[in-house]
Amino acid sequence: MEETQVKKLRQPIVVVLGHVDHGKTTLLDKIRGTTVVKKEPGEMTQEVGASFVPSSVIERLSEKLKKVLPVKLEIPGLLFIDTPGHEYFSNLRRRGGSIADIAILVVDINEGFQQQTFESINILKERKVPFLVAANKIDRIPGWKPFENEPFLETIGKQKKDVQIRLDNQVYNIVTQIAEAGLNADRFDRIKDFTRNVAIIPVSAKTGEGLPDLLALLAGLTQRYMKERLTFAEGPAKGVVLEVKEDVGLGHTIDVIIYDGILRKNDQIVLGGINGIITTKIRGIFVPRPLQDMKLSKYDFTSIDEVYAAAGVKISAPNLEEALAGSPIYVVNSESNLDEIKNKIEEELKQVRFYNSIE
Ligand code: GDP
Repeated sequence: MEETQVKKLRQPIVVVLGHVDHGKTTLLDKIRGTTVVKKEPGEMTQEVGASFVPSSVIERLSEKLKKVLPVKLEIPGLLFIDTPGHEYFSNLRRRGGSIADIAILVVDINEGFQQQTFESINILKERKVPFLVAANKIDRIPGWKPFENEPFLETIGKQKKDVQIRLDNQVYNIVTQIAEAGLNADRFDRIKDFTRNVAIIPVSAKTGEGLPDLLALLAGLTQRYMKERLTFAEGPAKGVVLEVKEDVGLGHTIDVIIYDGILRKNDQIVLGGINGIITTKIRGIFVPRPLQDMKLSKYDFTSIDEVYAAAGVKISAPNLEEALAGSPIYVVNSESNLDEIKNKIEEELKQVRFYNSIE
């Protein structure tokens, strides 16, 4: 009998890029807010530096889209990096690419592409990160009638003909601008082959319109086209250092995103420091306390014993004062080749140090 092996998929890591004031922060806030409202108690795990949207929430939100976007979700959800923008994105590198599996490029639909939109596309192309375009602020299109949190495919049908035409004219502006960057694009509901076209999803971060379509597409496309990349590896954790901090009661800590494997308390870790490689042992892994028992302090963390990719956590360990944001971090176990890992980190750090020195 043929052996059937069930391979678990991890949650795709999503980043948000785009021009200043086009609505990146508002969009992330809206996604987080909607998730809190739509989740069942105990459903959301707490993350550091990232926000987790469980698949159950995506399914609940996109119920009305079943006919047009039929997706049975196998991924556990989506992990959004909390800090938007391409400056921060440069800290998310991993060998030959990015820890981001997919990106949302936010474009104000009324303004179209601006300088940082083009810059964002270039850096996404350079790191080979696929992306969707969220054509934001559709509620500002003259004559738009808002229907809070509705899928775009529902709300567009309820708009007057001239408003629909205005929206499409703006979408085609964006299509033309993406073509200038050498890529084909179209409104998502007119795309047949998502491997050849960048999908444009009209949204409003203010009214929540189009968010169900955006989340359903992010989940559906990553699951369909990135299965191999998203297959969870049971091995030692791999991650990237987001930030180095000094936390009350914890001393120097690092916030990290784990994109592969398992991280455990007492694991030995290797990462880059200002003056060379740091090898240390994990004292504690922390995540924020669940909202309901969160007091006023934002330093309110709870300790956990292990965490599976993908996840955002805080690590406390000795000798983290000189840790470098943007450095890779690897767990080393008895089978790992420490020298090889150190060389790998050293190689990657050359770029990180260069980046930190020009910032
Ligand atoms: P960022 O610089 O890209 O993070 O942009 P922000 O999220 O800070 O948004 C810039 C401004 O646009 C803020 O005043 C937001 O309230 C506003 N804004 C963002 N999204 C929308 C939207 O969908 N509709 C409307 N009307 N305003 C929005």
